[in-house]
This record gives sequence, structure tokens and C-alpha cells, in this order.
Amino acid sequence: MRTQDPNIRIKNFNEVALGLTEEEAVSEAKRCLKCKKALCVGGCPVEIDIPSFIEHIAKGEFAKALDKIREKNSLPAVCGRVCPQEDQCEKACVLSNKKIPIGIGDLERFAADWGMGRQTRDHRPKTVDRKINEKVAVIGSGPAGLTCAGDLARKGYDVTILESLHKPGGVLIYGIPEFRLPKNIVGIDVDFVKNLGVKIETNYLVGKTKTIDELKEDGYKAFFIAIGAGLPYFLGVDGENLNGIYSANEFLTRTNLMKSYLFPEYDTPIRVGERVAVIGAGNVAMDSARSALRLGAKDVYIIYRRTEEEMPARIDEIRRAKEEGIRFELLTNPTKFLGNADGWVNEVELLKNKLGEPDSSGRRRPVPIKGSEFRMKIDTVICAIGQGSNPLLPATLAKLKLNDDGNIIADERLMTSINGVFAGGDIVTGAATVIEAMGAGKKAAGSIDQYLRG
Ligand code: FAD
Ligand code: SF4
Repeated sequence: MRTQDPNIRIKNFNEVALGLTEEEAVSEAKRCLKCKKALCVGGCPVEIDIPSFIEHIAKGEFAKALDKIREKNSLPAVCGRVCPQEDQCEKACVLSNKKIPIGIGDLERFAADWGMGRQTRDHRPKTVDRKINEKVAVIGSGPAGLTCAGDLARKGYDVTILESLHKPGGVLIYGIPEFRLPKNIVGIDVDFVKNLGVKIETNYLVGKTKTIDELKEDGYKAFFIAIGAGLPYFLGVDGENLNGIYSANEFLTRTNLMKSYLFPEYDTPIRVGERVAVIGAGNVAMDSARSALRLGAKDVYIIYRRTEEEMPARIDEIRRAKEEGIRFELLTNPTKFLGNADGWVNEVELLKNKLGEPDSSGRRRPVPIKGSEFRMKIDTVICAIGQGSNPLLPATLAKLKLNDDGNIIADERLMTSINGVFAGGDIVTGAATVIEAMGAGKKAAGSIDQYLRG
């Protein structure tokens, strides 16, 4: 896929990847073998009929392609941009063994973008097999919540999403930057879900505005908790409270949700120095580093304790970060931060690692090399080492069982320890991916339907 030139794109927040033309999409779709036993479908957590939608594109039937995707997926414009297809459908594609797998994600994005501003099929249920008037509350409007709500609305339920922030979308709106996932694109997929009949109430913090027990009194018969993993982890080393050290969560929320890159047109400021250290190497770290660069930093370093092979970020995003001039300090771990007399960070002490035996994640464990400490001048730090679950809502449900990490325990139907209360997405699995959260939302919708039918 064509992209903006790296030298130009580091000076703007416009989307980096530019999408396929009609000719490119048709030609890519024609490579598909239309396999009878399509392995790609098994690699898709929401089970899109991939060969059928690709065949429609190959024939130039773009509206039909989009309708086919939307039968299973309410967020195709989002998925086509940020899903790790290389680990999902494209990895399973039969052509991945021989040549290059079909660019399923690129084709999904093409179909979704083609549909923008065009009238496509109405996906609301035409007839409901019985009068379903039960009210269902979905808590959280990230990919898990939106998918569950959309699927329940298609089945005819009266669904309301309750969202604590002022805009729906979860990480899609507050975390992933504009240059990777434009917010008007998220808005289009959210509008599709609303058009299925889903109501969305924002500025509604369940656990504070109302508890689940109070919502039961309002007539809600089932709940889906999809509140994500939005609580940032820190390193726990000396100097971490110095000024100039952000959690990636705060840094990205200020930048994306509050649009600090458009300050003073938008009134949230952000301070980024000249030499920025981003700790971690997942998607969150790449997004933070590339945002810092666009906000005016001169030298941006990814500091990671393992090697490139173990980096959790998407391969495409690592490649794009390199193209943009992000530097990588690998096999390196911060041990303390140092500051000036005014309390601002100005240096980081780092320790070199070597790789040892694999740990429980299957990745080789970083082993510190004694005496290898060195220091680097920096003036901003962004800590992107992972997120955990926010305890606010779980603390209001005495019978809700949590695991040692504070994640909600759910059974194979995604029912929690409380009857009628389901949970899925990052709040159950810990920080994962958009499509896994959507898969959980789909599964929960099926289980809630069965539960409400008795
Ligand atoms: P979330 O998206 O976190 O949504 C949860 C929602 O619940 C939020 O809107 C929150 O405000 C709301 N909420 C929380 N508590 C309450 C409450 N008490 N009451 C009401 N509402 C509440 N995955 C990919 O597949 N590809 C990527 O490229 C990618 N990049 C990422 C980049 C960043 C910066 C981050 C942070 C994550 C990224 N991920 C990526 C991971 C992916 O975004 C998450 O796995 C996914 O969003 C989880 O979905 P969710 O619906 O479970 O939760
Ligand atoms: Fe097409 Fe690959 Fe799916 Fe076969 S496995 S139908 S070639 S996308």
C-alpha cells in the first residue's frame, strides 16, 4: 500500500497509509484462489466470509463486498487499518506458505473506505423472531462493547452503551493516533453501530454515575462489561515521579482525544522536549514515539529490554517507525531517572541485557549484564510498558471474581461469577488486540441472547 513520504509525514498527523485504488484492489482480489476450505476464515476471530467478499471485489462489486463484511463485522474501516492480519487471517491464508498471502486487511479497508458517504444495505433486523424487549447494558464503547452491542441490536434487543469518556470508541479514539487511525473513520464505524439501533450514553462512569445494581433497578436484564485495560503500569525505579515523565496513556490521550497537536485551537497543551525516551516496544510504544516526533522532538529512542525479534508491536509499525527516524536502544533497561534542580528529568541510567532462557510468554528472558550501566541525556520520558485493569467498577460488585492481575474471570460463555453479568475484551484477557476484543464481543452477544431466552 502506498504511504506518505516519511520526510513529509513526520511533520503532520495525516494518515500514513493511503489505501488501495480500485484497480489495485481488483488486481489483488484476483490473486485469491477461492479455496473450498478457506483457511483464512478460521484465522478471523469474527469469522468474516473472506473468500466471498474478496470475490465481490474481484468482480468490481464493491457494495456487495462491504455488505458481506458487515454481516459479521461492524467495524471494517477500523479492522482494515489496525488488525494484526499478519498473525490472523493472512497468516492462515494458503498463499502465505508459497508466495505472498492475499492482502486481506488492505482489501477490507478498501471496501470500507469505498462505502464512505455511499448508501449501502440496511443491516437492522427486518423481522425479530419474537418480541424481544429486554434491555441490555454494555459498559464501555471500545471494540468489544461496540461489537457486542451491534450484534445484540441485530438480534432485536434494546441496547444501551454506557461510556465514561465524552466520545465513544475506547482505545480506537483515545489511544491509537490519528496518523494510523483517523478519528472520522472511527466515527463512521460507530455511526454504523448506532444505526443498528444502539443508544450510546457518554460521560457515564459505571460504578460512580450508577452501579450495576442500580442499573438493574432501571430494568436492565443483562450486562456486558467491556471496560478494557486502561490503567498504566510504571517501572517502579528511582526518579519516576520527576516532571517530564508521562505514562503512554496520558501522553496519547492528551494527543489524540484532547487533540493537543492542534493546541491552541484545542485547549489541552502537551510538552515534548528534544530528546525523548519511550520505554517499551509494543504498539503503544511505537504510537508514542511517532507522536512525539510529530510534536517536534528531534531524537526519539525506543528503549527495549529484549531484541527486535521479541518486540510485540506490529511489523509494519516497527518498519514505519524506523523509516521515520526513530532510534532503537535494544537489550537495554532503565534503572533510574535523574533530574535538574527544578525537578525536571534530564538523564536516564540504563543497564545492558543479554538474552537468557524463554520465560512464561515464550520469549527469551532479558538477563542484566553487571557493571554495564550507562547514561543518556533526555528531557522527556514516555512509559509504555503495559496496562492493567481499572479496579473502580469491579470494586462495586462484591461477588465479582477477579484473577491475580485484577482481570475479570469469565467462563467459556463469557459469563462472570454473577448471573447475567458477562465480560470480555481486555478486561478479561489483559491488554490484547482489537480483533480479539471484537471476537469476545460477538461471543458475549450470542451468550446474552441464549441467557435472555432462558
Ligand atoms: P477499550 O478499547 O479499552 O475500551 C474500553 C472502554 O471502556 C473505554 O472507552 C473506557 O473509557 C470505557 N470504560 C472504562 N471503565 C468504564 C466504566 N467504569 N464505565 C463506563 N465506561 C468505562 N490492537 C490492535 O489490534 N492493533 C493495534 O494496532 C493496536 N494498537 C494499539 C495502540 C494503543 C496506543 C493501545 C493503547 C492499544 C492498541 N491495541 C491495538 C490494543 C487494542 O486497542 C485493545 O486490545 C482493544 O481496544 C481492547 O478493546 P476493549 O473493547 O476491550 O477495551
Ligand atoms: Fe483466498 Fe487465501 Fe482465503 Fe484461499 S486462504 S480463499 S487464497 S484469502
